[in-house]
Amino acid sequence: SDAFLSVRDLNVRFSTEGGIVKAVNGLSFDLERGKTLGIVGESGSGKSVTNLSILGLHAPETTTVEGEIWVDGQDVTDLSRRQLEDLRGNKIAMIFQDALTALSPYYTVGRQIAEPFRKHTGASKSEARARAIEMLGKVGIPDPKNRVDDYPHQFSGGMRQRAMIAMALVCNPALLIADEPTTALDVTVQAQILDLLKDLQQEFGSAIILITHDLGVVANTADDILVMYAGRAVERGTTREVLKSPQHPYTWGLLSSMPGLSGNVDEPLRPIPGSPPSLLNPPPGCPFHPRCEFVDLVGGERCSTERPALPLGRGSACHLTAERKRQVFIEKIQPR
Ligand code: SF4
Ligand code: MG
Repeated sequence: SDAFLSVRDLNVRFSTEGGIVKAVNGLSFDLERGKTLGIVGESGSGKSVTNLSILGLHAPETTTVEGEIWVDGQDVTDLSRRQLEDLRGNKIAMIFQDALTALSPYYTVGRQIAEPFRKHTGASKSEARARAIEMLGKVGIPDPKNRVDDYPHQFSGGMRQRAMIAMALVCNPALLIADEPTTALDVTVQAQILDLLKDLQQEFGSAIILITHDLGVVANTADDILVMYAGRAVERGTTREVLKSPQHPYTWGLLSSMPGLSGNVDEPLRPIPGSPPSLLNPPPGCPFHPRCEFVDLVGGERCSTERPALPLGRGSACHLTAERKRQVFIEKIQPR
């Protein structure tokens, strides 16, 4: 396929004192160059663990990673530590929720953008400095020539987030992984940062994985959405499909508990009752069945005994018939 990233049947297990945590189970997805995939779910859904696996960042003593993770024709699960470092430097970059974890307080912002560029291109000091100034301009830092020698604490939170994006993109990565990149920011700055990511993607052509608990974040940013629950993918489709005609009861729950998207500000939010299951001992059958209101519509013991599969194309891992999914969504869930 044309996919830059292909994950196939990924299983990630952690050994803990309490037992084996089944963090990711049977996950498969593809991502093409220049596209953004939103991976959405509550904390503990496996979305961040998946990305640490793509980056090869798990502690090998306590983690087993099974399956295939193809990045640009190489299976990450077969690479040595050294090859992984290379991959992370050249082809994959990350941005995080908190820029302070990525930026060192001891070096100027400009130096932290220039260093990786020098390392990977062999550019001279002055070329790299010019590139840092250029990148700060691209991410919307005003007067970058005069800010390039500032330290991170001299930047606002939003500016630090922009600087981290500049640092991530300076080597023109083919894949950018953004894990809750805007969660710590206020709503206005959040929207600006997401717009910036979109613009930069057009310019750099990177593929982006945008990890978030917030469907609102992916609504205007992602091409495709993968919804994860309890370490499993439960729904996938284009952003439009998932937001306009969601099929999985968990996705319905995510939508109903969001203020902005429903467009119905007066309606009280309906948080999903209960909490995600322990991944030490996940429920049999459909992982969502202990919280699902629609078990009776499926009937029998099916939801608690038989695990629904997720197709690779548009679809959801739920035993309800396609007709029922449509009907229930329109009658009970869809914002009026
Ligand atoms: Fe709910 Fe059953 Fe569908 Fe799972 S399979 S989401 S429990 S209706
Ligand atoms: Mg392998």
